Amino acid sequence: MAWRVLVVEDNPVNLELVTELLEQEGCEALAAESADAGLRLAAAERPDLILMDLQLPGMTGYEATRRLKADPATATIPVVALTAHAMRGDDAAAKEAGCDGYLTKPLSTQAFRETLRRLLPRGAARAEG
Ligand code: MN
Repeated sequence: MAWRVLVVEDNPVNLELVTELLEQEGCEALAAESADAGLRLAAAERPDLILMDLQLPGMTGYEATRRLKADPATATIPVVALTAHAMRGDDAAAKEAGCDGYLTKPLSTQAFRETLRRLLPRGAARAEG
């Protein structure tokens, strides 16, 4: 059984790139182009991990992460922040919002893989599948 990873990303080019990286790692990607859609999909699908763009139109990724972590149905799902603006303080703000990891765009393939391996569950069935 493949890991299921929800990608909340409004930029179609980034979404495509992240989906491709996930598929290379044997993950199934679920996509949402807004925080609202992401919250709905997270509650309905209970993915193994969420990659959350912080700069989304309307509700930001910070607020969406706070809501995910405040909802018992989704609180245990690891959230990795994605940000194009590697600004001083973003990392701390992402952690404060409840993010479990943080990646800057353009994505480093190595950092991406390391983060997935650190945060995806390691059930034996999945490791073999
Ligand atoms: Mn964005």
